[in-house]
Amino acid sequence: MCLLLLGFAAMVIVLTPWHPLPGHVPGGAAQPDAAADFTPAQIARETAYHDQIRPWGLGELFVGLAVAAAVGFTPIGAWLVDRLRKWRWIVQVVVATAGTTALLTLVSLPFAAREEVVLRRFGLSTQDWAGWWSDVGRSYAVGLVFTLVVLLVVMALARRFPRRWWLAAAGAGAALVIGGSFAYPVVVEPVFNNFKSLPAGDLRTQILAMAARDHQPLHDVLVADASRRTTAENAHVSGFGASRRLVLDDTLLAKDTPQEVLVVAAHELGHAKNDDVLIGTVEGALAVAAGLCALYLAFGDRVARARSVPLLIATYTIAGFAVSPLTNLISRHVEARADAHALDLTRDPTTFIQAQRDLAISGLDDLRPSSVLYVLFFTHPSTPERIAMALDWQRQHER
Ligand SMILES: [Zn+2]
Repeated sequence: MCLLLLGFAAMVIVLTPWHPLPGHVPGGAAQPDAAADFTPAQIARETAYHDQIRPWGLGELFVGLAVAAAVGFTPIGAWLVDRLRKWRWIVQVVVATAGTTALLTLVSLPFAAREEVVLRRFGLSTQDWAGWWSDVGRSYAVGLVFTLVVLLVVMALARRFPRRWWLAAAGAGAALVIGGSFAYPVVVEPVFNNFKSLPAGDLRTQILAMAARDHQPLHDVLVADASRRTTAENAHVSGFGASRRLVLDDTLLAKDTPQEVLVVAAHELGHAKNDDVLIGTVEGALAVAAGLCALYLAFGDRVARARSVPLLIATYTIAGFAVSPLTNLISRHVEARADAHALDLTRDPTTFIQAQRDLAISGLDDLRPSSVLYVLFFTHPSTPERIAMALDWQRQHER
């Protein structure tokens, strides 16, 4: 376990771009300043939105953690699973997993529904309740399949090798992370969205030409039907190797100028160029392997028993939240490097700044996050930080 943790730490220390924009900034670095980038009305609207949605979002998070702990870390969950004693082990595990995850989904629903109401009030959601319920069902199904696969593999290994299961489980856990990340774009993403190729035209030609210039040749550019849920604009890369893909949301194409879309695509090419998905996946695999060794040290062969399912789910839920400040810290630096790449590739800081503004306004992004929220939830630098970096780039390249 120490070796795995060392490997993970070494990868994070060496591969995280701690200085995403290298070099000296003449006249000193620009300071992030929301008041300079946005109008008072834009800031007021974003503040009103967060004042309304944040209590429900935080409530959902804390109730989820508390209920997971209540069923997993007290005898309640184990007692409930013991009611299934007469059934076969595998049936007990499946029913206990489906039940625990259903309970966690159920307690989150009142909060999630209130969040949806706020999203609609601010024009961010385009869904009706039928669509919302269908998403609840799909998320539950995807989460259940994922949790079941992991639990069945780990618990079956613990049953088969009571003293040595951590060794096999670490390998299996790492393989599941790598296989899952590879398959994610083709297996999970289509559950939630439809994808089609960006039609032939100037924009497609320009993106493919830019990718070729960047030595990241693309076979295709995909468009996701994000507008079925939201008015917010986004883009992403996922997968690696043969499953790697660049996806633009239809909301982005509908509202932004082709130049802005090009800057956003350039950011995504930065992720591709730096193998961010692959590196993140390998780091995740090492962390999961180390986590499974820690699980062995904490619970030993108890992991094999069906009555441990609530305990394992609670441990996973709380550990996931506990490591999020670290994963967010890494992610923010990786995102800033992708921004620097977009600036280097397009050499167009003015359009970059305009695109950042449009994205923040369309998504009602938090422009002045408190430090606690920033540490816990921000996977990207704040928009004023991203704009400040573009200004730094501009100063570096002014003659
Ligand atoms: Zn990104």
